[in-house]
Amino acid sequence: RPERVRKPDWIRVKAPTSEGFAKTRALMRSKNLVTVCEEAACPNIGECWTKKHATVMILGDVCTRACRFCNVKTGMPRKVDPLEPQHVAEAAEQMGLEHIVITSVDRDDLPDGGASQFVKVIEAIRKASPTTTIEILTPDFRNKHEAAVEAIVAARPDVYNHNLETVPRLYPMIRPGARYYASLRLLETVKRLDPSIFTKSGIMLGLGEQRLEVHQVMDDMRSADIDFLTMGQYLQPTPKHAKVEEFVTPQAFQAYGAIARAKGFLQVASSPLTRSSYHAGEDFAEMRAA
Ligand code: SF4
Ligand code: SF4
Repeated sequence: RPERVRKPDWIRVKAPTSEGFAKTRALMRSKNLVTVCEEAACPNIGECWTKKHATVMILGDVCTRACRFCNVKTGMPRKVDPLEPQHVAEAAEQMGLEHIVITSVDRDDLPDGGASQFVKVIEAIRKASPTTTIEILTPDFRNKHEAAVEAIVAARPDVYNHNLETVPRLYPMIRPGARYYASLRLLETVKRLDPSIFTKSGIMLGLGEQRLEVHQVMDDMRSADIDFLTMGQYLQPTPKHAKVEEFVTPQAFQAYGAIARAKGFLQVASSPLTRSSYHAGEDFAEMRAA
């Protein structure tokens, strides 16, 4: 029998039963859209969907990679849906979203890694819902990140997010197929091309990383001029995925958060249930108002 670590009390997940949840689900289904909230079995789904905040996953629900922490299916992805940009824009408009997060699976099979679809989605949302701020959370675009990032930056999203996910030592085990420094460089490129775009990244804790390694990641991110940081507890989606090595206490998350703020990030979210897109809209609005 696989060894299972009991979840501590602070990882409490409310059942998603509200009316807002059902409405969001129905809208997403009617537009044939996939959300990372469902695919990643996110623990905040009840809360976020009630508040009409969702993260839409474009370019299908099948990924060409198989990261050890991720619940998305791996395999041969589907053809790119030409109606997808319009559908995402309609969903944003109908939900009256102030802030939308757009992410995608990795599409190493496409010549541009899917960058042009990100551009089309951004353009369609701008047209249908001009006041919605747009946050994109992209893959690393492997060996073609310069061209992909150039195209996306030219479409001017408000926030460009790309997660480092974990400390460099754990990459071969947790994020095979990705390179830590390539991901850092991607975010550095965004900032160099357009300093007015906010850059954002995040890591999961509880995978066996050491405290000093986490501090080093923060320093690396600041050297790449990354503005926002998210840190949350890794949860094992199924027994096949990487094991939780540790449940980091809320106090330790708070301490990491304080260190990150001292290192100069503009915005830091650090708590057990923090996810890359958790409260992204509210935090962004607050920061712009400040
Ligand atoms: Fe999941 Fe992204 Fe890794 Fe694909 S590349 S398996 S979607 S984390
Ligand atoms: Fe969806 Fe992000 Fe909220 Fe999770 S935190 S439910 S992925 S919007």
